[in-house]
Amino acid sequence: MKAVVADPVGGPENLKVVEVPIPEPGDGEVLVKIEAIGVNYIDTYFRAGFYKVPESPVRLGSEAAGTVVKAGKGAEAWQAGQRAAYAMARGSYAEYALVPQQFLVTLPEAMSFDDAAAVMLQGMTAHYLAYSTFALKPGNTCLVHAAAGGAGSALVQIAKIAGATVIGTVSTPEKAQIAKENGADHTILYNDQDFVAETKRLTNGKGVDVVYDSVGKTTFHKSLDCLRPRGLMVTFGQSSGPIGEIDPLILNQKGSLFLTRPSLGNYISDPAELKWRSSDLFQWIAQGKLKLNIHQIYKLSDAAQAHRDLEGRKTTGKLLLKP
Ligand code: NDP
Repeated sequence: MKAVVADPVGGPENLKVVEVPIPEPGDGEVLVKIEAIGVNYIDTYFRAGFYKVPESPVRLGSEAAGTVVKAGKGAEAWQAGQRAAYAMARGSYAEYALVPQQFLVTLPEAMSFDDAAAVMLQGMTAHYLAYSTFALKPGNTCLVHAAAGGAGSALVQIAKIAGATVIGTVSTPEKAQIAKENGADHTILYNDQDFVAETKRLTNGKGVDVVYDSVGKTTFHKSLDCLRPRGLMVTFGQSSGPIGEIDPLILNQKGSLFLTRPSLGNYISDPAELKWRSSDLFQWIAQGKLKLNIHQIYKLSDAAQAHRDLEGRKTTGKLLLKP
């Protein structure tokens, strides 16, 4: 089968298509024939060696949808032909992948493989951020950075489903339009406008209840100034680079703030939570409440171009690869 690996870790040019044997499922594993692969920013961190793994070359991809081929010992509940999808199991940039059974969910009949691969990782991230990290309610206001990106687009829509007021930051007027279409109540062009002053103005000086920050280096410190006293700073990504060290005293000085750095893995490790989040998403898609903006579908062999486009801020919504 064909698979894309980083060999060695580095820039997008280090991504190579290799021919490897179709793997055999071990205990608790399921072999899935991949039909659609989700591209996520985290893939670029593994490719670059920023997130370290012991293997070499490094297998890429954390999300896909496809058809079960066979199940290993202890995973017999999964049968050949079942349609399934998953997030957070690495190695999806391939024609087949071994998936630990606890990551897999069954797809509803009506859901396409493309939609499933587009929603699992970023959709469940947006779900846990809006329903668990901070349980948004009507009356709450949140600030969502990169509001036209993959995770951002899902989060704006799900925060609206939860009833919150949403302020979204983006880099261009075109992306502001997309954030508005996603349901953002207000948008800020954070490259041109002072997003702290704008957020304060939009909240009548109060500040927001929660900031969801996937951008990191260029937004983290200013984001603290957008919060109300005892507000929650959620730093969940770093598309502009790492934040560096933080002195906890800053949380005191800026209003007894709370700070968390969550990961999807810890919010879907309980099977009941995985089911809750994925079935909410599937239901919202079926009801037309959650729209998936698939920006572009690339060939698996064009994974390097997908990474260049994502890192170059050229994309909105979701990127997919097709084996
Ligand atoms: P996005 O689709 O959001 O792409 C990144 C976006 O970030 C860009 O489109 C751009 O939007 C913005 N951005 C701002 N500054 C930069 C910069 N210097 N370089 C590149 N992009 C920049 O990607 P994802 O939705 O896949 O992921 C976003 C972040 O969220 C990543 O850091 C990812 O790792 C993290 N994440 C974390 C999860 C978790 O559970 N902790 C789960 C899922 C994602 P604009 O042009 O509008 O500024």
